[in-house]
Formats: sequence, C-alpha cells, structure tokens
Amino acid sequence: MSLVNSPSAALVIFDCDGVLVDSERLCHEALRQTLADEGVELTLEQAFAHFMGTSEAVLLDIVERLIERPVPGDFIARFGARSFDAFRSDLQAVDGVHDVIRGLGARYCVASNGPKEKMRFTLGHTGLLPHFEDRLFSADDVSRPKPAPDLFLHAARTMGAAPAECIVIEDSPTGVKAARAAGMRVLGYAAMTPAERLRDAGAETLFDHMKQLPALLRT
Ligand SMILES: [Mg+2]
Repeated sequence: MSLVNSPSAALVIFDCDGVLVDSERLCHEALRQTLADEGVELTLEQAFAHFMGTSEAVLLDIVERLIERPVPGDFIARFGARSFDAFRSDLQAVDGVHDVIRGLGARYCVASNGPKEKMRFTLGHTGLLPHFEDRLFSADDVSRPKPAPDLFLHAARTMGAAPAECIVIEDSPTGVKAARAAGMRVLGYAAMTPAERLRDAGAETLFDHMKQLPALLRT
C-alpha cells in the first residue's frame, strides 16, 4: 500500500529506542560488554543482529543460547547499570526529532518494548518527556511484546484511534512486524538498521533522517 492518496494519520505512534532517543548503539555496546563478562565476544554488529528490538524475555533466551548455560540472576541488573551509565554520559535525542514533534499536526504517542522506567529516563534525559508524559505505552502494559500486535493495538485503543488511522515509526524488524500485524501503516527509520530488513518485515516507506519525516506524514 502506498502512502500517496492515503488519508493523513489520526495518530502517529513512535517507537522509542532508536527512533526518539539515540540509545541503540549505547545499549548494544553495554550488552556486548556484559556478554563478554560471560565469556562470549560479539562485535557490535553481531549484537545488533541478535538483539535489535527484542523484549527482555526474548533477550534472555538469546543470551542463554549464546552462553550455553542458565543466565546469571544479576545479568539484567549488570546490563541495565552499564546502559544507564552510558545514557547519563552520552545519550541524545535522535537528530531532528524535536523539530518533528513540534511540527506534528496529528496526535502522537510512544510505544516501546522496553520498560516504562527506561523510557522515562531516556526521554527525560533528552528533554522529550514533556511531549510524551501521559502517552507512554510499554510492553509492560500487555501480555505479548512486539512482534505481537498487542502493544500497538493497546496504544491506539487508549488514544481513541482505529488501527487503519495510525502510522507507526519503527527502526527494528520486530517493531515493523508488530505494526503490520496490528493493521497499521509503518514508516521504517533505517538510520542504523539495514533498509532491506525493514522492507522485508513490511515497512512501506523507508527514510534515514528525521527531517524527511514531516513530508512523509503529510502525504
Ligand atoms: Mg527501536
């Protein structure tokens, strides 16, 4: 389906990590280091390929397969502490996203596979939280995270929009699949993720800088 001649969106649903905040590189580096503690050496690119867009439960399954034994009980705590240390020193909003949000004509919200506490921290640290304070949706809110459609459907229902009126902005194949399963249109932000992986997952239009997004949302 093309966006051309489609009605403009009633609701724009942003993914958080990699779309609003530039957290993916910092997070995957923290994960890479925490796996190295367990004796598994990955490149940053391999870490992206394994973990991009996964929920915590899926992440733990992958870690268990990689380290070939039960995941230590403090793994998530160590990974989280490393991530938050990196966020405190280096986290920034995705370039151009403040302007996109200021200029949006449609209503909007954020829906992330990450925990709400992490969203509050990353959005707060980058000055975006005031825009999203009362419209944060997390996989914590539903029984099945992305790639299931539950989170996007929950966000749309709560915001009072029909799925066909929603446009999702996603940077991971997992998130693109979730949006398509929810019957929503998806614009794939391919700054860090290979564009073909987002297209294969079902993104109808791809872009690689936020300054391109307002025009895509208007058509
Ligand atoms: Mg993401």
